[in-house]
Amino acid sequence: MSPSKTGKLADCIASQQKTVIFTGAGISTESGIPDFRSPGGIWDQFDPEEMTYQNFMADEKNRRKYWAFHHQSWRNIRDARPNPAHRAVRQLEDHCDISAVITQNIDGLHRKAGTDPERLLELHGTMWRADCLSCGETHPCEQAFDQIDSGISVPRCPVCEGDLKPGTVAFGEPLPKNVMVRAQKAAVSCEVFIAVGSSLTVYPAAFLPEMAVNAGANVAIINRDPTPLDSMAHLVSHGKAGEILPEVVRHLDEQQRHPRPGC
Ligand code: NAD
Repeated sequence: MSPSKTGKLADCIASQQKTVIFTGAGISTESGIPDFRSPGGIWDQFDPEEMTYQNFMADEKNRRKYWAFHHQSWRNIRDARPNPAHRAVRQLEDHCDISAVITQNIDGLHRKAGTDPERLLELHGTMWRADCLSCGETHPCEQAFDQIDSGISVPRCPVCEGDLKPGTVAFGEPLPKNVMVRAQKAAVSCEVFIAVGSSLTVYPAAFLPEMAVNAGANVAIINRDPTPLDSMAHLVSHGKAGEILPEVVRHLDEQQRHPRPGC
């Protein structure tokens, strides 16, 4: 992002009341977690069409595959550290009125960076939890992956022995209603909406920037590659989130010392 663009975004955040940050897999690639669609990514090893909620619920064979798919990326996610972009999001929360940090990510890196859990909306759930299909109890996912390491291909609930499902939202599974309702309310009531590291192609999450635009917000898109929603954004920057967001925070520091007109 050119210095003028980061400055403009910082002006915009500083001069407005409510800001929503919306993140996708691209904010975590600099932490070593690949996005799904890049060459060599996880879709080269697993067929996304098989990883549906309906398949998971249908039979044991599909549950084994689904757990193997999650097990494949678990250690990487468990050991990943927040990068400068996650830390910049955390710093923005101190600087201005961030009404929500909405993430499509399941890696827990915003939590690790210290984002306020009250404003963090994990639209697609989290790898850090496993839910029992029988009794509904939730468990830390470490226990489930320990079971897989010991040879059990579909982990069992320690309470009732029912099958566990990862706490992530599968393809074809409804998003958690309360989380989605809060995300929609935040999108239509913010003045600035910043999308970071998302191809903006996974729906219904990608409706959120559209809702924000329609409700009159200024939308900024920070992404390595172009997105289909670039043409409706007020500000677009193609580059690395881990470079651009810290730069925005630096400009914001500067703007708070020497205020200028907003965007
Ligand atoms: P996506 O894979 O569709 O798109 C990622 C986007 O990030 C790409 O357009 C790419 O250009 C951009 N990008 C990559 N590295 C970047 C960087 N350093 N800085 C800025 N941009 C960068 O991701 P999505 O839109 O989030 O949708 C994918 C779905 O897959 C989501 O539902 C998400 O839940 C899931 N997913 C999550 C993780 C994770 O939790 N880290 C990882 C992979 C996939």
